[in-house]
Amino acid sequence: MSVNIDWDNLTFAYRPTEAMFVAKGADDGVWEPGGVVPYDNISLSPAACLLHYGQGLIEGMKAQRTESDKVVLFRPMDYARRMAMGAGRLCMPEFPPQRFVEAVHETVKANRDYIPPYGKGSLYVRPCLWGTGAVLGVTPAPEYTYLIMTCPVGPYFKGGITPIKILITKDFHRSAPKGTGHVKTISNYAGGMYAAQSAKKQGYSEVLYLDGREDRYIEEIGGANFFCMLNGKLVTPTTGTILAGVTRDSIITIASKIMKLDVEERDITVEEALTADEVFCTGTAAVVSPIGSLTYEGQETVFNGFNVGGVTTELYQHLTKIQLQEEKDPFEWVVEVDL
Ligand SMILES: *Cc1c(COP(=O)(O)O)cnc(C)c1O
Repeated sequence: MSVNIDWDNLTFAYRPTEAMFVAKGADDGVWEPGGVVPYDNISLSPAACLLHYGQGLIEGMKAQRTESDKVVLFRPMDYARRMAMGAGRLCMPEFPPQRFVEAVHETVKANRDYIPPYGKGSLYVRPCLWGTGAVLGVTPAPEYTYLIMTCPVGPYFKGGITPIKILITKDFHRSAPKGTGHVKTISNYAGGMYAAQSAKKQGYSEVLYLDGREDRYIEEIGGANFFCMLNGKLVTPTTGTILAGVTRDSIITIASKIMKLDVEERDITVEEALTADEVFCTGTAAVVSPIGSLTYEGQETVFNGFNVGGVTTELYQHLTKIQLQEEKDPFEWVVEVDL
């Protein structure tokens, strides 16, 4: 089979692919093996817990082609474990991490024609865990569905990484202490759309949230983790109310183990962040996004003359090269898909 996709003009818009993976399970944690089926609409009870009470988790990872035309995944087991951890928080049976990873392989393989050629983007892989059983009262669903859909996407930065403008908001919080901000639950995202949309109307790429207790410490950008270079150290907020990204962990590891930088995971005040030498954020889609400026209480602070910093560039290059097997992978992060 061959598909008619204009690989040079791929965006981030959704388009369906050939196949998806579906497995059904019960609330006792017993899952059918599931398998790849043709991509189609799904049938759901109007009373599905997911639709009313948001009992759902998502993951987001990608499959890419290397220069020698292998297809590779990055740290798939870490995404699987994060979903298993989140399942507990939402009273859902976890989907077994080993099976999660096998299912990702099967789904990528079934959609091999949709994986962009080397350098043209990636196949975004979106595993979901949903409470699909019918309920009326607020209670965990009696039935669950694990589904993986995919979508080919273009490179995040066409023509090299470019700094973005970010607005620090005191009008909204993403996450509360002891809440679910550390979990990739679907219910966290609708709540952030208003803040992101109003920032975009004002010309910013995204908002940066502060902590929900004191409005003083940096938390994260809507879907990306925050880093800055402060007095020669790489500093990033601690886990707790942030969503601890796989990219975040990879950047911390590369900075400390490969680049021999001092890395601190700690609270960062806004005032401190505004004195940083370099600022960037991390996530699966963009990998590393340099932050050119932060606007706080009407005042814009520009970093590094709105240019990409040296440490930011080096971290981005190490990580993307490891991901594409262009640099030694000392941490055994990259997994090949057997097509
Ligand atoms: C997914 C996500 C991230 C980034 O995590 P990665 O594993 O690096 O993709 C950061 N913040 C939020 C809120 C997220 O949902």
